[in-house]
Amino acid sequence: METTHTGIVYIVGAGPGNKKLITVKGVECLQQADIVIYDLLLNDALLEHCPAHTEKIRAPDPRIRANRQAELNQLLVQHAKAGKVVVRLKGGDPYVFGRGGEEAMTLTQAGIPFEIVPGVTSGIAAAAYAGIPVTHRDYASSVAFVTGHSAALHPDSNINWEQLATAVDTLVVYMGVAHLREIMERLITHGRDPQTSVSLVRVGTTPQQFVIQGTLSDIVEKVEAVQLKSPAIIVIGEVNRLREELRWFDNNPLFGKRILVTRARAQASEFAGLLEANGAEVIQFPTIEIRPLEIESTEIPSPDQYDWIIFTSVNAVEIYYEQLRKKRQDTRVFGGCSVCAVGPKTVEALNSIGIYPDFVPSHASGKVVATEIENIQEKKILLPRAKIAIADLPTILRERGAHVDDIPIYDTVKVESKCSNTIQKDLLDGRIDFVTFTSSSTVTNFLEMFPSYAAKDLLAKVRVAVIGPTTEATATEHSVRVDIVAKQATIESLVEAIIVECSNLSE
Ligand code: SAH
Repeated sequence: METTHTGIVYIVGAGPGNKKLITVKGVECLQQADIVIYDLLLNDALLEHCPAHTEKIRAPDPRIRANRQAELNQLLVQHAKAGKVVVRLKGGDPYVFGRGGEEAMTLTQAGIPFEIVPGVTSGIAAAAYAGIPVTHRDYASSVAFVTGHSAALHPDSNINWEQLATAVDTLVVYMGVAHLREIMERLITHGRDPQTSVSLVRVGTTPQQFVIQGTLSDIVEKVEAVQLKSPAIIVIGEVNRLREELRWFDNNPLFGKRILVTRARAQASEFAGLLEANGAEVIQFPTIEIRPLEIESTEIPSPDQYDWIIFTSVNAVEIYYEQLRKKRQDTRVFGGCSVCAVGPKTVEALNSIGIYPDFVPSHASGKVVATEIENIQEKKILLPRAKIAIADLPTILRERGAHVDDIPIYDTVKVESKCSNTIQKDLLDGRIDFVTFTSSSTVTNFLEMFPSYAAKDLLAKVRVAVIGPTTEATATEHSVRVDIVAKQATIESLVEAIIVECSNLSE
């Protein structure tokens, strides 16, 4: 990307609200920003693309005071003149009802280089996420984007409602919720059929998307009944009828469900991604962090001194392998040693370093592993695992005559959360649908974060979903009522179990 002595301003479209609907170029700009000046965004997560040094400035809102736009323009010019890379981040597309044109004009006049990064505009995207294509060969060959802001309805307005009413197949009105009645009346007055289909899509593309449908003549009443507030787009035209067949987003199995993910942030993305792909809103609330113990790698035994090595988690595989790597050892040292892996993810982690385990027990519980593994009498077994781990695995192995070296290589440490107050309130008010626990320590740490509540009160209004029997046992021990246990101890299976529960609930 170009940089010049005087700096540069990128006027970037942030997309309609869903954090993935920003362009690749938009993300690149954020990654290079010294300064980001952003509007009230539907998704603050976009700012996470910025490096640590980026100064984030909330733009003054021009709707509140007229001279705010001047203040904003001043900010852009001043920072660019100081040689900074400035990103002006705007909702949707910057040139669709976004005053992006005015801002670019200021920059031109001040002689400041700028680039426009178009964005996905809500008038198209929110409609698409509601199952409404704004054009369709059989229903609409033209579309107009119109502002419904009060000025648009003023007698001096340059919007030609008279012609617009019937000249265009699909009308998409932005900023029109507050004036819905006047807009509908105007269209009918100017000849649009009162039975024309109308949709309002509120906060489209987000997990809170809400769609309401009616006709020019009855939509006002319907909208008033649910007290729908902006931001919403209004779509007028026959294309609305396609929603019934083309709906795909807000009928996802977990749509509208708010799900708390308590596992370590570093491990949460796959789980969160799967839940989101099924329509859920994921609230990340990490209760643990995985921290490799500070041990000299020379103190970590190599597998060639053992008959068996048992890996009980992905962390164990990754951290142990990293220690071997530090000793400049590779997979050849596994040569004479049999490998046991607990759980499919652990198998995958081993596969990815080129090891195919000799034995995978039928269940991910210490007891099962210890009883199913064969030929261990008088054998040397290495167990590299978490500092705090349940004792039954080594105990039973020893009872069966094995020599076990139980070596802690990582610790799961509690994290202090800044948002536990909000979460607590949401839990108590029933605003969270599911709490998920993917290990015993997530359960205990979670409960420790809310010392003033008994588990049964705190979790009275939510469903508790756990990954497997060990986690379930820990939960039960701490008086947590478990509603859902995954069939296999994997996140895929956990997501599936939550989906099944949701479909049972809605029946
Ligand atoms: N530049 C923006 C529009 C800014 S005007 C764009 O291209 O999308 C603000 C209006 O956009 C809101 O009043 C509302 O009508 C619409 N809007 C923005 N985000 C929306 C969303 N996620 N769902 C529905 N309407 C949205």
